[in-house]
Amino acid sequence: MTLKSTMAWVRGVAKRPWQISVKLLVISLIVTVLAFSVVCASVLISMRQSAQELARQTLENLAATVDADVSRTIELYDHSLQVVAKNIGQQELAGVSKPVLQMLLFARTETAPHFGPLQVIDAEGRVRFDASTLDPPPEELEREKFFTVHRNKTDVGLYLSRPIIFHGIPSIVLSRRVHTADGHFAGVVAGAIRLSYFQDLFSRLRLADDDIIALLRRDGMLITRRPLIPEMVGKNISQIPSVERMLTTPSGWFSGKGLDDGVSRMFVWTDNPRSMVVLVGRSWETIFGLWRKEALRLAAILLALAVFVAAVTVVLIREINRRASAERRLKELSITDPLTGLTNRRRFDSAIDEEWRRAQRNRSPIALLMIDADHFKRFNDTYGHQAGDQILIGIALCIADSVHRAGDCAARFGGEEFAVLLPGLTALEALTVAEIIRAKVERWSVDQAGVTVSIGVADLMPDQVDHWSHLVESADKALYAAKESGRNVCVVANCRKTTRVAELPATREIA
Ligand code: GH3
Ligand code: MG
Ligand code: MG
Repeated sequence: MTLKSTMAWVRGVAKRPWQISVKLLVISLIVTVLAFSVVCASVLISMRQSAQELARQTLENLAATVDADVSRTIELYDHSLQVVAKNIGQQELAGVSKPVLQMLLFARTETAPHFGPLQVIDAEGRVRFDASTLDPPPEELEREKFFTVHRNKTDVGLYLSRPIIFHGIPSIVLSRRVHTADGHFAGVVAGAIRLSYFQDLFSRLRLADDDIIALLRRDGMLITRRPLIPEMVGKNISQIPSVERMLTTPSGWFSGKGLDDGVSRMFVWTDNPRSMVVLVGRSWETIFGLWRKEALRLAAILLALAVFVAAVTVVLIREINRRASAERRLKELSITDPLTGLTNRRRFDSAIDEEWRRAQRNRSPIALLMIDADHFKRFNDTYGHQAGDQILIGIALCIADSVHRAGDCAARFGGEEFAVLLPGLTALEALTVAEIIRAKVERWSVDQAGVTVSIGVADLMPDQVDHWSHLVESADKALYAAKESGRNVCVVANCRKTTRVAELPATREIA
């Protein structure tokens, strides 16, 4: 901003203080509402992050709980398999009768409502022992995967089958290899964990309605799921990219959609190093449910605040504008003559004071016209005071019509007297203006009983005297001289040696 434009701005401000206060009010209220919005937004963002973090931790704990229970169950069952696999190869048991052998084999094995009976299957796939009966019905299991996997490989360890119907019940079968002293395949020990175990475990947990729990075998095959979708059980879903990541990374989370309902959820998984991956999912709707309520509440409060602030702003702006225009009107009234509409005496005094100082600074002349209606008392007496008022209005119009420059000031000086301040003009230049006014009034008043004006013209260089009252005095003297010389003339006061007199008819110069 240049100095010039700054000054222009300052002048503008000084002229229209109410506009500044309206702007300031609007800006400060907008800033306040914006600041509130920013604070609320940052609180909401951090609340959202907290909700997400809390959900992640909760789901991690849930996954860990499921994982711990499932791991312990599998461990217990595996322990039983290992005991039987070890016992079956003992030489000491070679000559023992079948009932005793059965008792010894399964003495230290675990039983539970969801565990199926342990079975010892020989190298040909025939059931040799069954923990639940001395005479197991003949069964050919040599094609079952839980059998063939051990026959084909020696180091499988514990094998978990895909969900199958085993002895009429949906289960997964766990199996371990039995081998001879020299390491040859001698069959398997197998047992089933019913899928009802998992559903029972899930039902004991406190879950949201749309929570998902899935158990996957390490190769990505779905063992079971809550809610249960029977057609998906046993399917390998490792080709889904997020599942693929899940199977290769020990733990973590991702955002994805449920395979059955397409609902967007946060999924957290934890890895059971022995057997399975536990995946739990909770819908974002549930996770952010509380947060959303809070956010809506805050947004509603903020909106109400903004509406309230906007309403208050509108009311205040109206009030400020109303006061400003009243103030403007009052100011105008205080400087305007009510009859003629010209500047009044009070304003004229301050205008001449300002212009006098400016002229002092600029070392420029300043001229003044003192205009007086001729024989106005007589006119009043003849035509009445009201008619006289109309004449004064007409004279004022003639004056206003002749004075156009910025800084010029035409005023009603008092009664039937007028003054015109002409900064920067010499008496000669001012005399031209005076003559225009005089002639205008003369022309106009032909139809108004011939009222004329006499005009005293004076000028001063402000460095010649120290107060503008000398200028008024001088113009007054010139006006007096104009009256003396017969009226309806312009007379220039000879205050300055350089003052020239125009060669105009009806003009005089006084000493
Ligand atoms: P001169 O030519 O010497 O100036 O004579 P004059 O009659 O104009 O001067 P004088 O001072 O004797 O009278 C001025 C008159 O102006 C007296 C008064 O009635 C009249 N006058 C002053 N103010 C007003 C006004 O506001 N309205 C009307 N109608 N007349 C006014
Ligand atoms: Mg008069
Ligand atoms: Mg007078």
